[in-house]
Amino acid sequence: MTLSLSTEVRMIKGVGPQRAELLAKRGIHTFEDLLAYLPFRYEDRIHFSNIKDILPGGTFTIRARVMSGQAIPHKHHYNAIYHLLVQDAVGGLLPCKFFHGGYLEDRLKAGQQLILHGKVEIDKLRPARLEMINPQLEMLGNGEPDSTEVGRIVPIYEAIGSFGSRAIRRAMYAAVQMLEAGVPDILPEALRARLNFPSRREAQIHVHFPPPNESIEALNTFRTPAQQRLIFEEFFLYQLSLALDRKATRKGNAIAFRVREEKIREALKRILPFKPTAAQKRVLAEIAADLEKPAPMNRLLQGDVGSGKTIVALQAAVIAMENACQAALMAPTEILAVQHYLSARRILAPGGYKVELLISGMKFAEKSAALERIRTGEAQLVIGTHALIEDQVQFARLGFAAIDEQHRFGVMQRKRLMDKAASHGHAPHVLVLTATPIPRTLSLTLYGDLDVSVLDELPPGRTPIQTHLTSEPHLPGTWESLRREINAGHQAYIVYPVIEESKLELKAAMEEFKRLSKEVFPKLKLGLLHGRLSSEEKDAVMESFRKNETQILVATTVIEVGVDVPNATVMVIEHAERFGLAQLHQLRGRIGRGAAKSHCILVGPVRMTEEAQARLQAMVETTDGFKIAEIDLQLRGPGEFFGTRQSGDLGFHIANPLRDKEPLELARKEAFSLAEDANQSAALEGLLRQLPKEWQRRYQLARIG
Ligand code: ADP
Ligand code: MG
Repeated sequence: MTLSLSTEVRMIKGVGPQRAELLAKRGIHTFEDLLAYLPFRYEDRIHFSNIKDILPGGTFTIRARVMSGQAIPHKHHYNAIYHLLVQDAVGGLLPCKFFHGGYLEDRLKAGQQLILHGKVEIDKLRPARLEMINPQLEMLGNGEPDSTEVGRIVPIYEAIGSFGSRAIRRAMYAAVQMLEAGVPDILPEALRARLNFPSRREAQIHVHFPPPNESIEALNTFRTPAQQRLIFEEFFLYQLSLALDRKATRKGNAIAFRVREEKIREALKRILPFKPTAAQKRVLAEIAADLEKPAPMNRLLQGDVGSGKTIVALQAAVIAMENACQAALMAPTEILAVQHYLSARRILAPGGYKVELLISGMKFAEKSAALERIRTGEAQLVIGTHALIEDQVQFARLGFAAIDEQHRFGVMQRKRLMDKAASHGHAPHVLVLTATPIPRTLSLTLYGDLDVSVLDELPPGRTPIQTHLTSEPHLPGTWESLRREINAGHQAYIVYPVIEESKLELKAAMEEFKRLSKEVFPKLKLGLLHGRLSSEEKDAVMESFRKNETQILVATTVIEVGVDVPNATVMVIEHAERFGLAQLHQLRGRIGRGAAKSHCILVGPVRMTEEAQARLQAMVETTDGFKIAEIDLQLRGPGEFFGTRQSGDLGFHIANPLRDKEPLELARKEAFSLAEDANQSAALEGLLRQLPKEWQRRYQLARIG
């Protein structure tokens, strides 16, 4: 019997219906999905270490048998420490400790054969002795251990619920033996041969069960030919979807704007409330060069918090309006939309431009009137939230659209805004703005279909923000220094982690607000801002903070993006350990916007995890968004860093944009050349036809998304 890639997993020996259900929860339905479930590590079980040769600090794999074992009880059985003594074939003895190891008591009997893998440490109480603490442990079957367990390089899998590493390995082994011979290759044959990659089938097998002569080091750093091929393949397909997308965009016809005329240059200068930085000038020139062309602009403007992205977007809007087109600016929150609206009106109304606000919280009559003005073209620049992409919105002639804080939107929403304009036969020029600076390989992945402009300079006259880390018992001192700032005429934010606007968290923030108003700052005016307020309430709260009628704004993360009140010089972030680094950086970007020195005070618990400590320490040490993004990535890994909002699940199984820079660059080059090369359209079509299901789903997303 042979198995094909589309065989359902429950048909595989060693899986069955129950485990199939566990797998289904992880999105693993077919044999092909299962093959994509890769080991996170490989163990050399051809050459075991002798216990007499192990050294402290090193990581070793040992084959031994149980001599004795004992759980040192604790009042909670779960917390017992299990002490194990093992002996290897040549008589070496090694003690091991397992924290929370009480459960091992029943499982390990004297004589049981084991594989232990872990770091060797010096026993703190008896420095002459070595031990392993919490090594990974695998029990070998009694009798002759089978060939999936020893005598080979063994793949180690993350358990899936009760489906353990060893059981996964056995099922995988059995399945791989039966994999049909005719697995089609996805990569065009010429490309595969040129890059000297193994076939897809061979790579899929070797990545689970490497040949015995494979280097264990290469395996564990994902550098074997099989791994490199699969890594390349994932990047290649992903980049191909970007390339095709981009090709489709390029074909769209946009309105070529006039940008060089004296009248337009004058208009651009006239609206500027300040002297632009060199970076702002350069970026505007890059944008203008795109706007002149009849192919739609699709550009990312990346710039750290406070680098002055808004005005650049407004200038591009002015170019559109001067060309008798409408412009749109979409922001992720109502607060930000309203703020943009107010400042755009201040800047643009004197020039006679008509600025319109569109948010869902507007009164019906107001909204209908706004929609009407958008439809007739009377509204020239429309600023709003997601409300802009609702079905009822019809633009007369949308020529330019900007999306602020793109990381808060999905790719889908970007595309929907573009479609808005397509209705009058032209694709709009699109500019997306983001303050999340990321390394090149990541931006190739996330924004690979966009051209990139970077604002790498902050406007002059900013005093760097000082960041302090403190703990809850020191809050009274914190409130004292906050009071001093306010007495000096400044304003402050106090932020609470109501991240998903959960009711309980919100209640806690509201109670803190009451307590602060009554007990801590009875003489000051405090405002409270959170996501559950109506639009009008939010406006009122922001407006009185802007006017300095309230001195302290107690807020949830609704102020995370964009809010711009230069007189605010203090931000206290409570439970700072609960925020991600990127979020902390965004929050902190709300201060340090004027000339006065600003302070950000991060309040954490007395004890926190090492990871949280590292995060907060990074905030204290740097205000450079780029560095913070790098640290964030190191701490969290790319999966979480991307977040689901940002990218949809990119869904790489083996590829890692941070680790695999070279394959990514190569894959991008090859994918774009395949997509652009008319002579290769047959190869391209063949490839698209036989894409695995999973990629077909993702392509679908790329097509619409
Ligand atoms: P971000 O890039 O975070 O969106 P903003 O566009 O909100 O930044 O700009 C931050 C602040 O800096 C705003 O108050 C804005 O008016 C001001 N600003 C922007 N560019 C300049 C400049 N060239 N000179 C002085 N102030 C500027
Ligand atoms: Mg902004």
